[in-house]
Amino acid sequence: MTKKKFAVIGAGPMGLAVAYQLVKNGYQPVIFEADDRIGGMTATFDFAGLQIERYYHFHCNSDYDFLALLDELKIADKMNWRTTKMGYFFGKKISPWGNPIALLKFPGLSLIAKFRCGLHAFLSVNRNNWQDLDQIDAVTWIKKWVGAEAYAVLWHKLFAFKFYQFSDNLSAAWIWSRIRRIGRSRYNLFKEKLGYLEGGSETLLQAMKSYIENNGGEIRLKTPVQKVIIENNAVVGVNFSDSFEKFDCVISTAPIPYLPKLMPDLDREILQKYRSIQNIAVVCVIVKLKKAVSENFWLNVNDDTMDIPGIVEYSNLRPLENSVVYVPFYMPFDNPKFQDSDAAFVNKVKSYLQKINPALQDDDFLAIHASRYRYSQPICPPNFLQNLPPFKLPVKGLFAADTCYYYPEDRGISESIGFGKMMANEATKND
Ligand SMILES: Cc1cc2nc3c(=O)[nH]c(=O)nc-3n(C[C@H](O)[C@H](O)[C@H](O)COP(=O)(O)OP(=O)(O)OC[C@H]3O[C@@H](n4cnc5c(N)ncnc54)[C@H](O)[C@@H]3O)c2cc1C
Repeated sequence: MTKKKFAVIGAGPMGLAVAYQLVKNGYQPVIFEADDRIGGMTATFDFAGLQIERYYHFHCNSDYDFLALLDELKIADKMNWRTTKMGYFFGKKISPWGNPIALLKFPGLSLIAKFRCGLHAFLSVNRNNWQDLDQIDAVTWIKKWVGAEAYAVLWHKLFAFKFYQFSDNLSAAWIWSRIRRIGRSRYNLFKEKLGYLEGGSETLLQAMKSYIENNGGEIRLKTPVQKVIIENNAVVGVNFSDSFEKFDCVISTAPIPYLPKLMPDLDREILQKYRSIQNIAVVCVIVKLKKAVSENFWLNVNDDTMDIPGIVEYSNLRPLENSVVYVPFYMPFDNPKFQDSDAAFVNKVKSYLQKINPALQDDDFLAIHASRYRYSQPICPPNFLQNLPPFKLPVKGLFAADTCYYYPEDRGISESIGFGKMMANEATKND
């Protein structure tokens, strides 16, 4: 019997993990990737001579699927762990953040508010069950625990500048899983522990690519799939570059909002569910500087003159020749600000960094670049899973998922890898 022919849509971490697992299971998949490179959100670009991701990436000790894959690919020695610092820019100055002493010393919060925040963080980090939180919205949940004062100082701007009009209808379970992920990645109560891969995500991407290609898989770049062809409720192939190729099975890892166009012959109810999933876009500015902005990896920002939730000083995690800082501007795609030019974002970032660290001079900025991703973050309201079509669709040979499928976990490389491998195993389990 001839082996099933698989098409994988997307060569981000999930698509590559699907193909990797298919190859391990004895198949020779073809990956179709719209971009001119592999990686999706983790793709690398040439930033003034430095090969680096368009978007920042760090790892936590709970990234089990990611760490297991490094072992399988024999690149676990490329993983490094560091003690990182977190800060809060509030009241025009940087205060330490992320441990009990920092909380006690934080300006602008009453003692009772600090106590409530500490208790909320402690209980969230130690909680395992998320089903109760699935039914309530995050703002109500957080305000109930920390109170209106701490919500206004610590949380309001983070939500407003990441989720905009969606802020009041986010699942508490989904926000909790982020608090837990970061909160558990520690050496001890006072020391945060984050990881990076030598060479960045590209090290893993290239290792997956080599494994896939050396074992008969194929990656076609700049080849967006235009349509998945379905006949008699079964996949028969895909259309791309105005041609057709036969496949028995298609596994899509493209962002869900693309699916109504990619798979228009699916049941109307499924298409409707896909259409109802909201996403936000990102404009992410990366800066190379002669001097460090601060000693923190993550710096939350609450300042009336800045429309950002924080900055990420990546070189305070991964040692690099110069200081490298990412400044993400998340926003709904239809927000008029998304139409602003790259230069407008770049100029904002220069002025913001100089506000945070007034010692920075214009000639400290060595290079600066803005990248955009249209579907950078799904929005997960309460009871999110109830309205999500199954990843194994009711069409023979058709599977589809993106980063919202591992709810309540937030989008992450490790989760995309785990989900991708699981889909590949599911698609081949009865063969
Ligand atoms: C600013 C930012 C910061 C992040 N920080 C972290 C972090 O610190 N740690 C972490 O673990 N994760 C982080 N992430 C998330 C991580 O990057 C994602 O979870 C992961 O890359 C998702 O991989 P994916 O393959 O599921 O999706 P994607 O990376 O979105 O890949 C989907 C791929 O499908 C392709 N595609 C779309 N349509 C088609 C089509 N019609 N035909 C062919 N190909 C198509 C796209 O071009 C893309 O390459 C971050 C993301 C962003 C944006």
